Amino acid sequence: MPDTAAAIIPAGGAGLRMGQGTPKQFLPLAGVPVIVHTIRALAASGDIGPIILVVPENGLLAAREILVAHGLDHVTRLVVGGRRRQDSVEQGLAAVPEGVEYTIVHDGARPLVTPELVQRCLAEARRTGAAIAALPVKDTLKAVDKEHLIQNTVDRQGLWQAQTPQAARTEMLRQAHVAARLSGFTGTDEASLLARLGIPVSVVEGTELNIKITRPADLEIAEAILAERTSPAPYLTISKIGHGYDAHQLVADRPLVLGGVTIAHDLGLLGHSDADVLTHALCDAILGAAGLGDLGRHFPDTDPAFRGISSLLLLRQVMILARQQGFALGNADITVIAAAPKLTPHFPAMRELLATACASPAIAINLKATTTEGMGFAGRGEGMAAHAVVLLNRTALDLSPAVA
Ligand code: MG
Repeated sequence: MPDTAAAIIPAGGAGLRMGQGTPKQFLPLAGVPVIVHTIRALAASGDIGPIILVVPENGLLAAREILVAHGLDHVTRLVVGGRRRQDSVEQGLAAVPEGVEYTIVHDGARPLVTPELVQRCLAEARRTGAAIAALPVKDTLKAVDKEHLIQNTVDRQGLWQAQTPQAARTEMLRQAHVAARLSGFTGTDEASLLARLGIPVSVVEGTELNIKITRPADLEIAEAILAERTSPAPYLTISKIGHGYDAHQLVADRPLVLGGVTIAHDLGLLGHSDADVLTHALCDAILGAAGLGDLGRHFPDTDPAFRGISSLLLLRQVMILARQQGFALGNADITVIAAAPKLTPHFPAMRELLATACASPAIAINLKATTTEGMGFAGRGEGMAAHAVVLLNRTALDLSPAVA
């Protein structure tokens, strides 16, 4: 376990864009000030030792009250910031205790950061020296002039939006900030200050939900995200796994049917139905997952009604039985064991037929084929076998007691 890192939370913004008197970091979000969420998330990462909160001079009293009221004793220092974000972080760096090897900087106005993202960013910084959370740009970018006319489209290839947290070796951060101040450079994040000294900075993929509260609407969005996180959906998914195995003999004068597809071959599988060994394995796996026994129990091979029947019809019936239990097919993975013929060219057609019978998308069904390199009944071409593994999902009302 590496030593814990220090965290600096610049919370110095005057919140002018919010159009309210109170700085945005002190505005209530889901009942507590924005900054409280931010501090709790950093503390919950387990990777952070000292936390330094940097606030404007006129916010010092309010910040102190908030820390006490919410029992935030994780915050070891409360520091007055400067005019720019950069000045505030530099003030924060001065308060990082001696010997703390890594420091992570995180905007006070990004209260939805997850402890997991903090951990990932720090782990990457420990590996490379410096790392920030960022997101690849998804929207099309336009260069627009002052008259709101598009000048051109900017190639978004390789463009990422920087977020925080941003973590680096404490010494490198100090150097970068001093160098920026001495040369009068203003950067809007730590990475830009590090990069101008030629220090490589890597990115870890952030999350869309790690939003920065800058406009009043952002508070509403943040509130909705928090509500989603804290109140689990009243439904939960129950997943059941099932396995199926089947083998049939290969004989002359029988059609070869696999996955519902009739394949040109000099031998076919012997059985009461069409002897579609692949579909039988799938049926058994579905029945297994649903706790409904096996194919023979539902469709006995002594029943003349099932003589020569297409196994796709059996599969359709099996899925109806599973659906009556509330189950839908999550996915199926099927392996056919056969010496010949080559089956892969027929897989797309099989997938379509099987998926249709299961009322599932084709992507839910994966098909594989293998030989046994001449060994055993399949290797000698006396028969074919198939294995299937299936996951069924049932969505049910969650009746477990709600967590307060
Ligand atoms: Mg069978």
